[in-house]
Amino acid sequence: MHLVIRSRLSLILFVFFLSMSPSALFASSHVEKKMSYQFEPATNGSRQTMIVTLTFSGNATGKDRLVLPSEWGGQQNLYENIVNLVPVSSQTTIDETPLPFVKQISYPPNQEVTIRYELAPDRIMQVLPGRSYYRPIVQPEYFHLIGDTFLIHPQWDLKTKFKATLRWENLPAAWSLANSFGANQTKQTLKLTLYELKFAIYVGGDFRLTKKILKGKTVYVAIRDQWAFSDAELSDMVAGTVLAEREFWNDHRDPYFLVTLISSGQNEGHYAGTSFINSFALFLTSKSGINAPLKHLVAHEFFHNWNGGKLVRQAPEELVFWFSEGFTEYFARLLNVRSGVISLNEYVAGLNRVLYDYHTSAVKEMSNQEIMGQFWNNPSVSHLPYFKGELLALNWDAAIRQRPGGHNLAQAMLSLYRRDKSALISTQSLANHFQKYLAGSVQDEIERYIDEGEQIVPLANHLGACITLGYHDVGKNRQIPQYEIDQTKAVQNPSACLEYFQ
Ligand SMILES: [Zn+2]
Repeated sequence: MHLVIRSRLSLILFVFFLSMSPSALFASSHVEKKMSYQFEPATNGSRQTMIVTLTFSGNATGKDRLVLPSEWGGQQNLYENIVNLVPVSSQTTIDETPLPFVKQISYPPNQEVTIRYELAPDRIMQVLPGRSYYRPIVQPEYFHLIGDTFLIHPQWDLKTKFKATLRWENLPAAWSLANSFGANQTKQTLKLTLYELKFAIYVGGDFRLTKKILKGKTVYVAIRDQWAFSDAELSDMVAGTVLAEREFWNDHRDPYFLVTLISSGQNEGHYAGTSFINSFALFLTSKSGINAPLKHLVAHEFFHNWNGGKLVRQAPEELVFWFSEGFTEYFARLLNVRSGVISLNEYVAGLNRVLYDYHTSAVKEMSNQEIMGQFWNNPSVSHLPYFKGELLALNWDAAIRQRPGGHNLAQAMLSLYRRDKSALISTQSLANHFQKYLAGSVQDEIERYIDEGEQIVPLANHLGACITLGYHDVGKNRQIPQYEIDQTKAVQNPSACLEYFQ
């Protein structure tokens, strides 16, 4: 599994924002706002904790709502990890609301407001169902924190930039520190939005940091635990993927990027990743090697820097997961075989796995609305947008190639990125864009295959000179489409086999 998940809290915040009085809205938009966090490791009884002190600009009404972590990536009741939430600034009070993750705070108007709380997760790393590694981890040796799961903040607009200061105090001298905004900086001054602050990863402790400069831009890999590969091997693999994908998008602008790796604590074979701003996090099991599935996971997560990152989805984003996850699957596999990160055999094996899992899925004909309803709590449903999007991308690529003009899906994807960056990604905007490249009605295809859930059958009988489509009997009169490599041709002329993917 590899998912990009954002909190559904944003919808709730939006509703609250609308419910504020017009004067509060006016005041908040005309004050230059600041927010600063101070983080300090501590202990509470036998538990390792983190003391967080937050100072922010109060508004002219002297009232704000404080938003606590609630739900992220299928993890519930995250506010239960917060204890000892107290006001620190003078004449400041914090009161309950009917919602356990929202507090009312009152203070003298236009003053700086300070609160303090203790992050005290009670969890020890262990095999738990679901993606429990998304929950805040605070241990004597390290911490691993996703912004959405541990930061309390005033209920400000998610998309307005403000000045933020992060201070990391009293860390053990040997600890390293890395987050979505920098590495080994105990004081960070940033200009960012609340959305960016929350959609970020923060780690510290016994992580081993590897730094690379790629075309003048810094990429860090922060690793803890022991693995079947060396830190340098993983860092080299990540660097190859970063360069190949930035080359594809012709976008080498980002000055900083971070990849983190911890043990998932799950049973062997559980690979997972999730992307954040300027970063992604990996969760592996101890026997994981640098093999095709891990290379695919890394390529997938980094591709989200654009698809789902710089190409912003319209809410509810679950309805376009077929594109943000499924097309990301397609391009991760394509770019890996194109750049030689995986072999042609590994490419076909990965694609055949998708075809097999999709065609034998009991839920493959679910509608997009049904998928959205069950995505977060039914694993076989959560895989569907990945499968369907990749198979639709494969078909669209074949259809574009059959038309005059010599285009392919990769070119259509790049022109999507080059258009107006502020336009949100929605089913409608995608239909409008890809219609320019495809014969027939793209809108109609999206309705049938995505909205209604009609089964997607591969259109491409060939993928280049050496790969053909066949059907494998899987019993009960059922046949599954599978691609096959002509191994004689692959040995005699390997570059001809790869030409199709360039
Ligand atoms: Zn993903």
